[in-house]
Amino acid sequence: MAFEGLTERLQNAMRKLRGKGKVSESDLRATMREIRLALLEADVNFTVVKDFVKQVRERAMGADVLEGLNPAQQIVKIVDEELTKTMGEEAVDLNKAPKIPTIIMMVGLQGAGKTTTAGKLALKLKTEQNARPLMIAADVYRPAAIDQLVQVAQGIDVPVFQLGTDVNPVDIVRQGLAQAEEKHNDYVIIDTAGRLQIDEQLMDELANIKELAHPNEILLTVDAMTGQNAVATAEGFNDKLDVTGVVLTKLDGDTRGGAALSIRAVTGKPIKFIGQGEKMSDLDVFHPDRMASRILG
Ligand code: GDP
Repeated sequence: MAFEGLTERLQNAMRKLRGKGKVSESDLRATMREIRLALLEADVNFTVVKDFVKQVRERAMGADVLEGLNPAQQIVKIVDEELTKTMGEEAVDLNKAPKIPTIIMMVGLQGAGKTTTAGKLALKLKTEQNARPLMIAADVYRPAAIDQLVQVAQGIDVPVFQLGTDVNPVDIVRQGLAQAEEKHNDYVIIDTAGRLQIDEQLMDELANIKELAHPNEILLTVDAMTGQNAVATAEGFNDKLDVTGVVLTKLDGDTRGGAALSIRAVTGKPIKFIGQGEKMSDLDVFHPDRMASRILG
């Protein structure tokens, strides 16, 4: 289960305060040390942990919490609120174009769940907004990638624009956008190539697609299971492409929590969706407050 270790350790850290009518500064210090270790063990970015602990400590010291009524409960509340803040406070909507189509460019490393997420998103738009999305297959390096997108699209009954693997991806996107224009699709979802690691050539290609398509949304898909690697990946993509949002996948697995808790704070970019399974319906809007509650258990 996701966050299992983190939840248990945070609960244990705060349980020790329970039943104390008054919490001393040294009690608080001990609790904060445990919280710090729990977060580091969950693979949360070091600077994020440092800032988080500082905020919680200052708030706990500041507002007569330690001497007030039910200090333990108040500290739990502060931790909850600061976790929420670290993850971005509010849910952030998909960007929308003033005039159709809204263009969404999916980027990410191979295996992160980009193609699956493209399909999930298309289905979500279709069912929730009655939208008519068109998907564009712009990963020309792996023939299997196009087949996979076509299969995903067939399963949810959404059209795919593809020109096989012999055409330059920028040209594919250009022609795909022309088709969307002609057919009045209200959303275009571009599935781009991924690699096992960030490389210059891929980034240049993605930058070229971005320049041509002027996407309203560049959604980076990252695998929550990869912890700090997911954060480094997010930084790499963001530096080059200035992404507009992140999709965190595989939160149904036993991820430790580092990616969920670090990405927003490190990159400044919001997590917009979370993937919680392999089915097409397993995509949810990311709510920082709900995620904080889930982490606290
Ligand atoms: P891509 O290479 O980034 O396009 O990745 P794919 O979309 O092919 O996904 C790679 C694998 O991850 C596939 O087996 C997907 O079914 C799986 N996957 C994607 N998202 C999720 C998720 O949220 N949860 C789980 N459990 N598996 C996922």
